[in-house]
Amino acid sequence: MTTTSPAPSIPQSKADALRQRYAEERDKRQRSDGLNQYVRVSDTILGETIDPHMPVIAREPKADHVTFAVIGGGFAGLVTGARLKEKGIADVRIIDKAGDFGGVWYWNRYPGIMCDTSSFVYMPLLEETGHVPTEKFAHGPEIRRHCQQIGQQYGLYDNALLHTLVTGLRWDDEESVWHVRTNRGDDFTADFVSIGVGPLHVAKLPKIEGIDEFAGKSFHTTQWDYDYTGGSPDGGILDRLADKRIAVIGTGATAIQAIPELAKSGAETFVFQRTPTSVDVRGNGPIDPEWFAGMSAEAGWQQGLFDNFAANWEAYRGDPAEEIEDLVGDGWTQLGRRLRDGVRAIPPEEFSPERMMQALENVDFATMEDIRSRVDELVTDPKAASGLKAWYSQLCKRPGFHDEYLQSFNRPNVHLVDTDGKGVERITATGVVVAGQEYEVDCIIYATGFEYLTDYASRLGFPVEGRDGRTLSAHWDEGMRTFQGIHMHGFPNLFLQQMLQAAFLGANVPQNYVETSKNIAAVVVEATGNGTNRAETTAAAEEEWVAMHLEQGQPFGSAECTPGYYNNEGTDSDLKNRHNVGYPGGATGYFKLIDEWRAAGDFVGLNFGKSASTSA
Ligand code: NDP
Repeated sequence: MTTTSPAPSIPQSKADALRQRYAEERDKRQRSDGLNQYVRVSDTILGETIDPHMPVIAREPKADHVTFAVIGGGFAGLVTGARLKEKGIADVRIIDKAGDFGGVWYWNRYPGIMCDTSSFVYMPLLEETGHVPTEKFAHGPEIRRHCQQIGQQYGLYDNALLHTLVTGLRWDDEESVWHVRTNRGDDFTADFVSIGVGPLHVAKLPKIEGIDEFAGKSFHTTQWDYDYTGGSPDGGILDRLADKRIAVIGTGATAIQAIPELAKSGAETFVFQRTPTSVDVRGNGPIDPEWFAGMSAEAGWQQGLFDNFAANWEAYRGDPAEEIEDLVGDGWTQLGRRLRDGVRAIPPEEFSPERMMQALENVDFATMEDIRSRVDELVTDPKAASGLKAWYSQLCKRPGFHDEYLQSFNRPNVHLVDTDGKGVERITATGVVVAGQEYEVDCIIYATGFEYLTDYASRLGFPVEGRDGRTLSAHWDEGMRTFQGIHMHGFPNLFLQQMLQAAFLGANVPQNYVETSKNIAAVVVEATGNGTNRAETTAAAEEEWVAMHLEQGQPFGSAECTPGYYNNEGTDSDLKNRHNVGYPGGATGYFKLIDEWRAAGDFVGLNFGKSASTSA
C-alpha cells in the first residue's frame, strides 16, 4: 500500500554528536523520585468526579451465578465476551466501572481523539460486525460506538454490570467458583473470570507543589468538561473557551491530539512541555467504501491485516531476504519497515548482532533527523521549532503522529512554554509557574497520562485471592508470574489479558486481545466439555515461562533512554521490573505460539480437573 525510503547513512561524527546530545537531554530529566513523582487522579481533589459522562443509576445487587465473568468492558472484555458467545457460552457477565462499554474510549473523550494505528487493525471484530471505518484513523466517538455495536450484536449488555467496581475476587476450591464482590453490593459467583482492565485505566497527575491551590477550573484529559469548554465529544469548536486562558500540562500522545482543537477555539493556550514528543506524519483521510469493499472481499481479511501489521512492525527480526508487503501502511508499519531496510542493507557476509544494532541505531538517527526537520518545515517561529524537537531514540517514548499539531504553534494564541526538561515548578491560585515566571490562566488541563508499568496487582485496585487464600500480590511478590501471560498457578479458571510476558508493549494492543481471547474461549470449552469445569496452569509450566522471560525476555525502554513510562521513569530495573518483559520471539512469535498451542488441542501446561491443585 505504501513504500518507505531507506534511511540515509549518518556520518560517524554526526552519530557521535547525536549520542552525546541524547545523553545530555536524558541526564537533564533524570530524577531521584522516579515513579513517585506522580499521584493517582483518584487520590486527589480532581478525582471527585466519579463519571463526568453518565449518571449512575440505582439497581439491586446481584447474588446469582454466571459461567463467565469478564472484568473490564473495553476491547479486551468485549472481544472475550464475543468469542465466548460464539462458542455457545450464554451467561457472560461484563463488569466495568464505566457507565457503558468502551474502556479507554469511554473515558477519553477529549477533543481530537482518534486512534494512532490504522482503524482496520485497531478496531476489533470489524469483519464480524460489518462496520466500515469512516477514516483511516477513526475518531473516538466512532470507536466508542463500535464498542457499543459489539456489545449489542453479541448480547453483552443483557447481563452486564456497569458503573460497577469490582472490590474483590476470591476462589472457592470446594465449589470450584470465583466469588466476585463489587462496590454496588454484588456478591455473585462465576465458574471462570477474565481480567482485561487495559494498561491505561489509572490516570495520574504529577505531584506539583500547589496543585490543590489553583482556584480556576482544572481537569485531567479523561474527565474533559464540555460544559466548560463548549463543543462536544462529537466535535465542534470549543466555543466557550474563546475568551479563556488555558494551560495544558504535558505533551504526550493525548496532548498532541487535543492541542490543535484548543488552538482552533481561539483560547490563549499555554503548552507546558517537559519533553517533546516526536511527531511524524499521520496521513488521515476518509475511507472510500468501494476501495474497502475490494480490500475486504475475502473472508478472514482482518486477521490477514493483523498478521501483516505484526509482520511489518517486527520485520527487522525476521529473515532479511523475505519480502513482506505493507498492507496496512500506517506510521507503525512504516517505522518497522525502515528498521528492516536498515538491517537488509548489511551485506550477508558482514552480518552480526553488533552490525544489526548499529544498523538499527543508524536508521533511528536518520528517522529522528527527518522528524526534527519536519518541525523546521512546519513551525515558523525558530524558538518554538527548536523547543519542539525531540532528542532521543524514537522508541524511547511513545511515537506521535499528527498532521496539525506542530502547525498549531504558528497561531498567535498558542504558546510553547518549554521547561527544558524540568517540568512545571509550581501551581498557584491563579496560574502555572515555570522558571520563576507565573503564567496566569483560567483553566489547567492535565494531559499527564496514566500508570503503565507500575505494580499490576496494585493498579488492579482489588485483591485477588486464589487457592488456599494466596493473593495475587503475594504470588507476584518478587515479580509477575504467568504462563503465556494469561494463566497463573494457584489461580484456577482465571485469565489475564495484558501484554507482559506476552506480545508486549510494542504490539498492537487490540490484536493481542483478539488472539488471547481465542485461547481463553478454547480453554473454557475444553474445561466445560470434559465435565471438570476447571483449568489451571501447572507450577512447572509457569516456572519455565517465567525463567525463559528472565533469561531472554525483551525489555522495552532502556536506561539509555530519556525517562518515561517505558523505562519506569529512568529508575533502575530491579528484579521485579525485570519480570515485566515481552516474549523473546516478539509479538509475531507469541501469536504464532499461542495459535499453535490452541490448535494442537492438548493444552500443554494446563491441567483440567481437580488434580490441578496438587500438580507440580
Ligand atoms: P503520557 O504519559 O504519554 O504523557 C504525559 C505528559 O505529561 C508527558 O509529556 C510528560 O512529560 C508530562 N508531564 C509529566 N509530569 C510533568 C510535569 N511535572 N510538568 C510538565 N509536564 C509533565 O500520557 P498521554 O495521556 O499523552 O498518553 C498515554 C498513553 O496513552 C500513550 O502513550 C498511548 O499509549 C495512549 N494514547 C493513545 C492514543 C491513540 O492511540 N490514539 C491517544 C492518546 C494516548 P515527560 O515526557 O517529560 O514525562
